[in-house]
Amino acid sequence: MTPAGPSMNVSTTAKRKVLIVGASISGPALAYWLHRAGFTVTVVEKAGALRDGGYPIDIRGTATEVVRRMGILPRLRDAHIDLRRCTFLDTEGGEVASVPPRAVAGSAEGQDLEVRRGDLAANLYALVRDDVEFLFDDSIDTLDQSGHGLDVTFRSGRRRTFDLVVGADGMHSHTRESLFGPEEQFHRYLGYCFALFTMPNTLGLSRELMLWNTPGKAAALYAAGDNDELHAFLTFHQPEPPFDALRNPDAQRNLVATVFAGAGWEVPGMVNAMRVADDLFFDTAGQIRMPHWSSGRVALVGDAAYAPSFLTGQGSSLALVGAYMLANALATHRDHTAAFAAYERGVREFVAMNQALVDNGAATLFPTTERALEQRNTMLRDLVTMPSASARPAHSALTLPEFAPNP
Ligand SMILES: Cc1cc2nc3c(=O)[nH]c(=O)nc-3n(C[C@H](O)[C@H](O)[C@H](O)COP(=O)(O)OP(=O)(O)OC[C@H]3O[C@@H](n4cnc5c(N)ncnc54)[C@H](O)[C@@H]3O)c2cc1C
Repeated sequence: MTPAGPSMNVSTTAKRKVLIVGASISGPALAYWLHRAGFTVTVVEKAGALRDGGYPIDIRGTATEVVRRMGILPRLRDAHIDLRRCTFLDTEGGEVASVPPRAVAGSAEGQDLEVRRGDLAANLYALVRDDVEFLFDDSIDTLDQSGHGLDVTFRSGRRRTFDLVVGADGMHSHTRESLFGPEEQFHRYLGYCFALFTMPNTLGLSRELMLWNTPGKAAALYAAGDNDELHAFLTFHQPEPPFDALRNPDAQRNLVATVFAGAGWEVPGMVNAMRVADDLFFDTAGQIRMPHWSSGRVALVGDAAYAPSFLTGQGSSLALVGAYMLANALATHRDHTAAFAAYERGVREFVAMNQALVDNGAATLFPTTERALEQRNTMLRDLVTMPSASARPAHSALTLPEFAPNP
């Protein structure tokens, strides 16, 4: 594999040491580009190993160019989920419409990708694992930037000094909280909660998505392949975020079961499967909006800085593009303050455009009233005879600069 993009001009002065917090999407992507620019990179991840598996995610527009420049586009094309159809169901489980995925996805057919999150994470990790130090099962305990660098104490007791730290630790970033304060001030709640888990494919679904709706509630079963596993998704409208449940898996299970009690279709079986699932992922649909993405020698990237919410389907794309742009800024400007400013200048508008995709509570797939649901169903029936949805301009609104490390 011969990745295109970065020149191998590496600074002859002392290598700068960067600690990246989080080994999911934005963390390993940033590690790749910083290593290529000549940085010494360490990644700390609180999980004991790379977190694989997970729901399908999209890589679209500008982000496909990032993975092309990393040389992993062919592998991701191999991992692409070739979904055959999306079937929408009414409250009783009757079919409303069955449409090709491209009719509703807003993706550029033949260019954009949909892959399992774990496949993307594994490909990114494989690119850097031999060049970058990974510290699994650890995290930052204290971080002191009063001196010339950053003195970090890890939970394991290790102590190290770095030139820079980047928080790539997701929507509920601990790095962000320790520098900028509680999440509440940056979190824009979008009115939905969701539970995600895997369950046996007892329905024999194959490369298809079934979505059941009633006002304010939706249940989806996603068969990414022909195998015996389904990605199950339960989402519901909730005016206020259930903060208590966010830290308590039993409360999450009880809340979801209560909301979906008496629901039709396969929902009772899904709720039972959720009760015993060992991979339940529960969260609110929300965005992170911050006035600045850095403080001193610490910056944020990906969901930690600008989570757009799953309703946009753009989280992984923003993470990939943000990682590229931050690395390019750090490679171009030796002064980190100038680099962080250039990163924000380069990415902020792109982020704003993508976060704005759900500005009007535009969760069109999950209407909260009978009327809105009927309107959506009418639109879906029309889609069967209409051309595919076109790709959203926001997905490609940023043209990547050449990656140009400063010698
Ligand atoms: C239901 C659902 C559907 C989605 N669908 C899509 C989609 O269709 N398309 C799309 O693009 N995106 C989608 N997303 C979002 C996408 O997964 C994320 O936006 C994207 O992965 C951002 O990556 P990230 O690396 O910045 O953060 P994350 O993927 O959240 O990773 C953060 C990492 O940091 C680690 N970590 C956390 N705290 C610490 C700590 N204190 N110390 C060390 N490590 C830590 C975590 O274990 C994790 O590995 C979806 C998300 C959900 C929940």
